[in-house]
Amino acid sequence: MRRMILEIVKCGHPALREKGEPIACVTPELRQLAADMLETMRAANGVGLAAQQVGQAILLVVMDVSISDLPSRMMVGGEEVPVASRMPLVLVNPVVGEAEGEQTGEEGCLSVPEITGTIRRAAAVTVQAQDLEGKPVIFRCDGLLARAAQHEIDHLHGILFVDRMDAATRVSYSGKLKKMQKEALAALKKSSGKR
Ligand code: ZN
Repeated sequence: MRRMILEIVKCGHPALREKGEPIACVTPELRQLAADMLETMRAANGVGLAAQQVGQAILLVVMDVSISDLPSRMMVGGEEVPVASRMPLVLVNPVVGEAEGEQTGEEGCLSVPEITGTIRRAAAVTVQAQDLEGKPVIFRCDGLLARAAQHEIDHLHGILFVDRMDAATRVSYSGKLKKMQKEALAALKKSSGKR
């Protein structure tokens, strides 16, 4: 399969605020999109990417936390499995189920460059989704994988990590965010003018 690096849209692009459409069936186009998203995420050294970030409001996420030194655990059917053995993850229609505890940690986002912030998330979550074969995927995770899953699934609902920052941090970044939004809209106008 040929893989392409896609453009990652930036904060201010309307796709980032759209709720994703459920995926009714896995088509060759969807497989291609998932492969391209993985390629794009790796090229950008990210641990996750949601379809909204490449301008498509559908319920699709890719993740690979194995490039990070931050710990994660993953449980499948009540048994712990080596996280690396399950990476990369392609999640179709993922939802966060049972959440437990609390973790705080530094987050960033490929769609919100140059901004990081401490974000509070659930310590452990259950994720339910389908894979590219249409089979159900259910796992429990904690650590970075739980953080990444919550961050990416937020994207599918049009939520950005900056929305979850405490007010003081968000205010400190408001100039940068406004500038980014302006630039994203200008880039969008330019690209739609070309068509
Ligand atoms: Zn993100």
